[in-house]
Amino acid sequence: MFNYIKHGNINKFFVLLGERPYICNVCGKGFPDPSRLTVHSRSHSGEKPYVCNTCGRGCVSSSQLKKHMRIHTGEKPYQCHLCPKAFPRSEDLRIHVKTHTGNKWQRWTVICLRTC
Ligand SMILES: [Zn+2]
Ligand SMILES: [Zn+2]
Ligand SMILES: [Zn+2]
Repeated sequence: MFNYIKHGNINKFFVLLGERPYICNVCGKGFPDPSRLTVHSRSHSGEKPYVCNTCGRGCVSSSQLKKHMRIHTGEKPYQCHLCPKAFPRSEDLRIHVKTHTGNKWQRWTVICLRTC
């Protein structure tokens, strides 16, 4: 894998090693590629250049805008593996799954199946 250094592809080499050489100068967080650092730095500057043309909400990256658009399209690709409920964002599913995993009683799942 040292060929990557020889060929000048040092960024790829760092990614292979799991390194994050692009460091945010505000909070010190590291990123494997410069585009992700750019997106991250917007969380400090508050800059949201990707604006939803349906509701006007700003997003820091095109992928975040794409995720946001699911609110309008009704698309729910994140399916709970414990009950039939589905969610537009992975964060929503994660919060929902905690209602299952946060309770050791099996009957909780049964309750959720009825109410969800
Ligand atoms: Zn930062
Ligand atoms: Zn919107
Ligand atoms: Zn569920």
